[in-house]
Amino acid sequence: MQPPEGSKEEEIWEVVVFKVENRLFHSFRHIFVEASSVFEGMFLLPQGESGEGCSKETPIVLHGYKANHFASLRKVLHPTSKHVASGEFDLSEQEWLGALRLSTMWEMEEIRELCIENLYTELGSITSPDLLLAAREFRVQSWFIKAITTMLVAFNHAPTEILISKLGLSTACKIIDMKQNTTLMGALAIHPDEQSLVAIPLGRLRCSVCYTLLFTKRIKCANRDCRADIDAPANFHCAFIKAEAATVFRTMEALGVSFAPEAICCAYCERQLCLRVTCSSCANAPVEVEKVFVGYTRLMLGTQIVEAFREELEEI
Ligand SMILES: [Zn+2]
Ligand SMILES: [Zn+2]
Repeated sequence: MQPPEGSKEEEIWEVVVFKVENRLFHSFRHIFVEASSVFEGMFLLPQGESGEGCSKETPIVLHGYKANHFASLRKVLHPTSKHVASGEFDLSEQEWLGALRLSTMWEMEEIRELCIENLYTELGSITSPDLLLAAREFRVQSWFIKAITTMLVAFNHAPTEILISKLGLSTACKIIDMKQNTTLMGALAIHPDEQSLVAIPLGRLRCSVCYTLLFTKRIKCANRDCRADIDAPANFHCAFIKAEAATVFRTMEALGVSFAPEAICCAYCERQLCLRVTCSSCANAPVEVEKVFVGYTRLMLGTQIVEAFREELEEI
């Protein structure tokens, strides 16, 4: 029988009853259908005579889930007028995690994003290794990159033993290697016997304007009686700078040390290595570099994390 004209609106507000563990939950069918392709599929199936989900006597039983997680999800799906007015939910961290767990399983993309946005927003609310574990568990790429970035740049980093026991040997090694290869930690070294010189890897020197790598090929020392052939891209400490020439270089995005190209000395003769250093990315034609930079920017770290953890990130 066709429903009478005008009842379409009322038909949408069809009550559905779920049972999770020993608790009953009343909601509306369309809320679950709109939020989740899994429920949309479930409700498309013919109900037969059982009337499953229509009353508390015949609820839809959701096996294998926790009632408190479902209660949290329902809180997000049924905001109170106070929540709507303020645009904020008053869920605890555990409640957001419960809602995230179920919204991930039931493919509720928008709800999942909302949970992710509301979790771990405060600095220090979770340690970086734990954030990485949560990123793996809940498949959140942004948490994964944030956790590794924090581990790379943090002044107080987690002890290696903790990294290994929590994240596994392979991940711990990758993080430690990246810290050496991307941050200031592995950029500067002490000259064995000359206090006024600091050892630097030529392969990590960049233009301080556009951050392009400057020494990507082998180079020869400019001094005629030296002409040392230096493997610049090899990335070990193959040159020196005069310590007094270096200054801290800090912007919102970058942290490192900068100096004039003339301050770069050959590792063999300890005199100025090259007459000029040019950058081919700053303008259409190569331009002479005024300041050389060694250190990192957030963008650089992000790119290198994606490269180093490509396989794992693809699975997330
Ligand atoms: Zn030389
Ligand atoms: Zn440049």
